[in-house]
Amino acid sequence: MSKKYYERPVIIKQHSGMMNKFGSSPSLPPITEVEGIPVKELTEKYGSPLFTFSERKIRDNQRKMLRIFKTRYPKVQFAWSYKTNYLGAICSVFHQEGSWAEVVSEFEYDKAKGLGVDGQHIIFNGPDKTEEALEKAVKDKAKIHIDHFDELYSLMEITERLNLKADVAIRVNMDTGIYPKWDRFGFNYENGEAAQALKRIAMNDNLNLIGLHTHIGTYIMSAEPYRQAVIVLVELANMLSKQYDIALDYIDVGGGLPSNNTLKGQYLDAEQILPTYEQYADAITAPLFDLNLKPDELPTLILESGRALIDDAGYLLSTVIGNKRLSNGKRTIIIDAGVNYLFTSHWFNHKIAPAQHSGSFTENSAVYGPLCMNIDVLREDIVLPTMRKGDQVVILYVGAYSVTQWMQFITLRPNVVMIMEDGSVEVIRESEKLENITSSEKVPEKLNSFSLK
Ligand SMILES: *Cc1c(COP(=O)(O)O)cnc(C)c1O
Repeated sequence: MSKKYYERPVIIKQHSGMMNKFGSSPSLPPITEVEGIPVKELTEKYGSPLFTFSERKIRDNQRKMLRIFKTRYPKVQFAWSYKTNYLGAICSVFHQEGSWAEVVSEFEYDKAKGLGVDGQHIIFNGPDKTEEALEKAVKDKAKIHIDHFDELYSLMEITERLNLKADVAIRVNMDTGIYPKWDRFGFNYENGEAAQALKRIAMNDNLNLIGLHTHIGTYIMSAEPYRQAVIVLVELANMLSKQYDIALDYIDVGGGLPSNNTLKGQYLDAEQILPTYEQYADAITAPLFDLNLKPDELPTLILESGRALIDDAGYLLSTVIGNKRLSNGKRTIIIDAGVNYLFTSHWFNHKIAPAQHSGSFTENSAVYGPLCMNIDVLREDIVLPTMRKGDQVVILYVGAYSVTQWMQFITLRPNVVMIMEDGSVEVIRESEKLENITSSEKVPEKLNSFSLK
């Protein structure tokens, strides 16, 4: 028999029973495997921490969301939001599912093209499109969503110089009842800017106005703002049809649907308080039928959902480095994945489940990452069972924004794997090596040597 594990005794308040006046406070049940593969096996083979994506889950999410919208409106097209997760393998799953690419920078634009997406299937959003990027997009016949007047003028100048026509839409922002207002992107509706931009485009021979776009925010917790947004876009579309005889190819309502991650400061679990995707789809599609159009003239509804389609397909597997008690007796667990890999933990209380059966004794704990930085806190307070060095945890719903917003800071970024539908495991991004970092550095000649005593 091995020696029992000893820990210094402390006095702590116990939660008894299923519920108390603070509600239920259970630890998540252990998650010992992901898509049927033991967590231990994955980390032994690919290292810890480890980002793990499920191909099956991504496809399921996309198909389910498409079905929800298609049953409510006849023409629906999704465009994958690259910034949400632009690993090549992830984007390719979405493209295989029929999604176009939605990009917000030249880098993302080039990445989409590199993966084989042709210009016509790229939606080019964002406030920073360089002249070179715009020129490229015009030549490729990409769908350029104009953000502001200076960009409109550049585009007029570029298309005239190249003697080419560009397919364009404008991004519109409006008061949807969300505060603070998201009015820094696109043309404002209430002050007349949007209508003015549309009229200038309609009168320009080189600009082919094919759509209207909005993206009202992210993690929108109610369906009503979407209804307000679509009402505005429909009004603008009716104006274009009446005044300029322009029939739009599409109305793009952006992304922003929430995933089931829970925001910090949100008392109840996201799953308990958020509307269903069906409710969002109802709010988005109902006003489209107020377009003064015959059924065969209806524009395509484009959706740029990001987080809602990928968050729960991503897991971060991590290993306990050690336990520690703070001076006030609070348990802390140090794990090998920090906020450098999980930027999103600044906003969300990511769910953390033990990856092994650890007994029924649970305790409020803080979960810290490995960085020598006070900000490296994954959870301030979470109920977890006793964990020992070498035990593992699974951090849930980390598919969105983590592997794009992560940073190389203090430690090198880990492997990312995808569990394929057939149960095989593929590395979709290799862990960083020291050379990856130092190869782009330059040390000036005179700093090349030193001698320490
Ligand atoms: C970020 C972004 C999206 C995706 O947003 P989610 O909140 O992840 O759905 C879609 N469209 C645009 C223009 C964006 O900037």
